[in-house]
Amino acid sequence: MNYRHAYHAGNFADVVKHAVLARLVEYLKQKDKAFRVIDTHAGIGLYDLSAAAAAKTGEWKGGIGRLIDARLGPAGTPLLAGYLDAVRAANPKGGLKRYPGSPAIVRHLLRKQDRLSAIELHPQDAARLKALFDGDFQVRVMQLDGWLALGAHLPPKEKRGLVLIDPPFEEGGEFLRLTEGLTKAHRRWPSGIYALWYPIKDRVAVAGFRKGLVNSGIANILDVTLDVRTSSGEPKLDGTGMIVVNPPFTLERELRVILPELCAIMAVDDGSAWKLEWLAGEAPAAKSDGAPQFDGA
Ligand code: SAM
Repeated sequence: MNYRHAYHAGNFADVVKHAVLARLVEYLKQKDKAFRVIDTHAGIGLYDLSAAAAAKTGEWKGGIGRLIDARLGPAGTPLLAGYLDAVRAANPKGGLKRYPGSPAIVRHLLRKQDRLSAIELHPQDAARLKALFDGDFQVRVMQLDGWLALGAHLPPKEKRGLVLIDPPFEEGGEFLRLTEGLTKAHRRWPSGIYALWYPIKDRVAVAGFRKGLVNSGIANILDVTLDVRTSSGEPKLDGTGMIVVNPPFTLERELRVILPELCAIMAVDDGSAWKLEWLAGEAPAAKSDGAPQFDGA
C-alpha cells in the first residue's frame, strides 16, 4: 500500500468526485429519515496543501485552486454551494491551505440524524482519520479492508444511503475488483446508491470496465466523465470518471449544469470534454433514494 492521496488531494479528479458526492448527500437530505454514508476507501480526511506531498505535484492548483475563486453561473452556484462550503469550512482562516477529503465533506453536510462509516486500511491513515473524528458520535472510523466491508456492512440499518468506493488504483485488476465489489454489494443492498470513482488513463481498461458493468445485469447505472485534456495516449490522468448506481432522478439534470462549468474552469487544453451516459436504464419498480420499497421507507 504505497498510494498516498496527499499527492493528489484537491486535483481535478477530486473536484468532480466530491462535487458529485455532495449532490448525492444533498439529495438524501430531502427526506427527514436518517441515512448512512459508507466510505470504503476514506483516506485521512484532511490534507495540508502546503505540505511537501501536495507541493511536489501541485495538482490541486489545477483543480480546487481554480474552482475556489471561479465565477460560477447562477444555475451552478447553488449546486456547488454544499461542496464549496465544506472546502471553506476546512479553511476557517480563509484562503486555501487545506483540502477536505470525502469523509470530511460528507461529515460537513450531514444532519444530526445521519451517520458516516469511514473505512481505511492503511494503519497510519486510519489512525489520522480516527483522530480527526475523535468524539464525533455520528462518525465511525474503522481500520478495515474496504472490499470486505462491502459484504459485512451492507445493508446499513438505516436502509437509506450511499456507498462511496474510491480505491487507489495502484495495483492491476482494480477495475475488475470494482465491478465484482459492486456486484456483491448490490446483491446485498439493491436499492442503495453507489458511487464508484475510476481514472481515465488506460482507455482500453476503461472500455472493458464499462462493458463489464453493462453485462453485470445491474440496472440504473449513470457514467459521469470529465476529461481535462486531449487524450495523451500516455499513462497519464487525462480524465476522471464516476459510476453512479441508482442515481437520484435529479442528478443528471444537475450534472448537465455542473459539468460544463467544471470542464471550462479546469480545462488544460481545448480537448477537454464532459459526458453523461446511461450504461443501464431503469429496472421496473427501482427507486433512486437508497430507500428500499420493501421496508416501507
Ligand atoms: N476517498 C478519499 C477522498 O476522496 O478524499 C480518497 C481515497 S484514496 C483515492 C484511496 C485510499 O484507499 C487510500 O487512503 C488508501 O490507503 C486506501 N486503501 C487502499 N486499499 C484499501 C483497502 N483495501 N481498503 C480500504 N482502504 C484502502
